[in-house]
Amino acid sequence: MTIHITEDYHCPSSTCGRFYIPLSNNYCYACGVKNAPPEINYLSQCVASLKYNLDHYGSIIPPAWIELSKTDTVLRLIFWIFFSQRKDNNSNIQDYLKKTISKIAFEEKHEYLRSNILDLCIAISKELYP
Ligand SMILES: [Zn+2]
Repeated sequence: MTIHITEDYHCPSSTCGRFYIPLSNNYCYACGVKNAPPEINYLSQCVASLKYNLDHYGSIIPPAWIELSKTDTVLRLIFWIFFSQRKDNNSNIQDYLKKTISKIAFEEKHEYLRSNILDLCIAISKELYP
């Protein structure tokens, strides 16, 4: 068993409608509008999923993973980012996250997700390592 996030969030703006992961700034990473907070707290769900894997498998990467949503695809990426961060025992987490995430190859249409994922990872790191 693992914790999935099966509900994706899409910007409600009629001219945007793009996928992203909402954070406390309630800001769309694709078009920049401020949206109302979503029903799901995506940050706490992501943290719960990482913590579940650590508690149950002793690893942030679960033994099996199926992607049920775009958010799950991002979550898999986040598992790997934090897995390598822990393996490298890197103490300056924010620097590590910036460097690692700057190297990820995104398709041009998904480039806006880079800062979304960086902000999400920084927020996760603050929960994982308070
Ligand atoms: Zn938007």
